[in-house]
Parts: sequence; C-alpha cells; structure tokens
Amino acid sequence: MRTITLLGATGSIGTSALDVVARHPGRYRIHALTAQSNAAALAELAARHDASVAVIGDVRREGELRDALRARGSNCVARSGPTALAEVAQAPEVDTVLAAIVGAAGLMPTLAAAQSGKRLLLANKEAIVCAGSLLMAAIREAGGELLPVDSEHNAIHQCLAGSNDEQRGQARLVLTASGGPFLNRLDLAGVTPDEACAHPNWVMGRKISVDSATLMNKGLEVIEASWLFGMPAERIDVVIHPQSVIHSMVEFPDGSVLAQLGSPDMRTPLAYALAWPDRVESGANRLDFKRLGALTFEAPDLARFPCLSFAYRALRAGGATSAVLNAANEVAVEAFLERRLPFIRIAPTIEQVLDEYQPEPAATVDDLLEIDSLARECAARAVAEHA
Ligand code: NDP
Repeated sequence: MRTITLLGATGSIGTSALDVVARHPGRYRIHALTAQSNAAALAELAARHDASVAVIGDVRREGELRDALRARGSNCVARSGPTALAEVAQAPEVDTVLAAIVGAAGLMPTLAAAQSGKRLLLANKEAIVCAGSLLMAAIREAGGELLPVDSEHNAIHQCLAGSNDEQRGQARLVLTASGGPFLNRLDLAGVTPDEACAHPNWVMGRKISVDSATLMNKGLEVIEASWLFGMPAERIDVVIHPQSVIHSMVEFPDGSVLAQLGSPDMRTPLAYALAWPDRVESGANRLDFKRLGALTFEAPDLARFPCLSFAYRALRAGGATSAVLNAANEVAVEAFLERRLPFIRIAPTIEQVLDEYQPEPAATVDDLLEIDSLARECAARAVAEHA
C-alpha cells in the first residue's frame, strides 16, 4: 500500500492520476490533495477519494473548502497556504508525492517532498527547469527517488532500464514532439487562446497547451531531460512526430534505438510511475497497429518556433538562465491567455528577457526565488513593449 500526496489534484494530470489510483483499491491510499483556487472541485475529489487532508493554495478560500467538505459529509481536514502545501508534501505517513502543480508555483512543495526523501513522481517540469541542481541534490542527499511523469521522460526512463552507466554515458536521447496545433499553419498572426489550447493529440491544462503550440514545452523538456538523465545539450535531439505514438527514444552506441510507444494518454506514464517497478492497468486504450497507419518524422522548424532554440541557449548558458527562461515564458503565456499579448509576440518577449537579464548562478533557493522575481519584472516590461 502506497500513501500519496497529490499536489495539483484538480488539474489535468491530477485527475488522470486519481483515475488510475481508483482502479486499484487496496494498492494506494490518498493522504492529501491540493489545488490553488478551485475549492468545490477539490472538496469533491477529497470526499470521493477519502483523503485525510485537502489544501487550497489561496488562503481566502479555506472557509469555502471547509464548507464544501462538510456539505459532502467528509471528515477531511481543510488547510490553506504555502506552509500547508509543503507540510503535506513532507508528511511522515506519505511515501509518494505526485508533483502536478503548474509552473514555478510548484517548486517549494516539490522541493519539500525531495528534501524529505519521498518517492517523487514529477509532472511539474517547471520545478526542475528552474531548480534542477537544487532538486537533484535534495533527492540525492535525502535518499529519495525521482520518477518522471512527462510522457517523453517516462519513455526514456523505460528505454534506459537495463543499461549501465557506461552505455548511458554514450547514449543519445531523441525527444518526440507532436508539433502542436500550428505545425502546418503558416499564418500565426491572429491565433486566439482557444486555438492555441486545442492540441491535436493531448488534452492538457491551458499553460502547457500554449507551450506545446510555441514548442517551448519541448524546450522545457530538453532542459528537464538534461537534469533527469545527466545529458549535455549535444546529446538531446528533438524530432517532430505528429502522431504522438512514439513518446521518445534512446540511441545506443551500437546504433540500436529503443522507443516506447503507446496511445497518447497520460494515464500510461502515471500508472508506470505510480506502480514502478511493477506494472498496473492504466485505463488507456491499447494501440491498434493494424489501424495505426504511417508514423512520420520531420525536423522542427526553428525559424517558426524559436522557443525551442531559446531552451538550448539557456541550457548551454547554465547557472540560473533556465529559471529566467521559465519565468519569462510564464509571464508571456499568461499575458497571451489574458489577450494582452499576441501569440506571435510570445517568443520575442522571451528572447528580450534572455538578452537583458543574465543572472549569477543561484546557490540557494532564496537566490533562485529572487532571480525568478526579477525575471518576471523584466518580462512584464517586455510584455508591455510587445503588446
Ligand atoms: P492544470 O492547469 O490542468 O492543473 C494545474 C493544477 O495546479 C491545478 O490543480 C491547480 O489548481 C494547481 N495550481 C495552479 N496554480 C497553482 C499555484 N499557484 N499554487 C498551487 N497550486 C496551483 O495543469 P496540468 O495538469 O496540465 O499540468 C500540471 C503540470 O504537469 C505542469 O507542470 C505541466 O507542464 C505538467 N505536465 C502536464 C501534462 C498534461 O498532459 N496535462 C503532460 C506532462 C506534463 P486549481 O484547479 O485550483 O487552479
């Protein structure tokens, strides 16, 4: 029996994870579920999954959460705020934490879970992009485990199973990318938030959907892969694969390429990470190879989607540059979703921040939070110029 805290329970990843958990009564127990502002949905999930604690990030909504739990006859304890988020990630009765908050907002509770030696199932890619060195050190020092949930990294984790350090040291990673909703649309001038969020293969939260449309999502994943698998930028490639059937690949020195395939459904990587090293039913549809048709591949168009090259630039620059990239992207995407910034100005906004702000390396979390905050100020100014 594994006891779980699920950070970001009301989101796309959170609800998919709870679907997998509910398929295996007796195998998992939910200790805590969290959300930011959606108190009604959080109370409903907490009552349904018999959670002991529900935490709402926005402290003004704790009363609403408590009332909603009471209305459902639940004994679940309602809490709120950042301290409560970190505490449920570190609770002694918990052995597994799923980090599925969106954005750098998930960094502190994710780090708290790592520092207390939990098995960390990582979906919150922005946390590792911003704080890769601190997060990996915390896992090492506390003796915890990290299992990637992002489908590409989850695929690579599966492909690397059974290889030794020497083989990994010479391997090359190939991350697949669907290309997003605008792979074949040449005029991106009037793109609306709903168009950018209409992903052809995956149903996801709005922020990651926009990141997929700009290819920044793949850029963040390149940085994530570098931290997770200890790979330099030169040994991480990206290939466009519009069908999203191959979730990523590893090429070994003898020329062999191992790939992981599956239908595009996050319950598969979630089930893998939840059950590892076992395998459990996920609920995802099986691939039907007789109906699949062609699997195609092409190079990413960096002129149309420059965000991918910004991520390589940040990774090569090192230090806290990836945190600056992430902060600039979060600010630009939020402005786009709020219709304050055109889609085609997202990339120039981010590039301007990278040109203007080259931070010192961050030795501590406080350094990192300060860099994140300064990068957001710089990005807000850039958004105003590009609006
Ligand atoms: P969603 O937007 O669907 O869900 C985000 C979750 O985080 C919600 O529970 C939300 O609560 C909570 N949240 C939002 N802001 C805060 C905050 N400031 N503090 C605390 N909690 C917060 O996102 P996704 O599920 O799509 O993505 C989650 C993470 O997983 C992202 O990092 C994404 O990149 C990654 N990921 C997602 C995939 C997908 O298929 N969706 C695939 C691979 C990775 P509330 O509902 O109250 O707002």
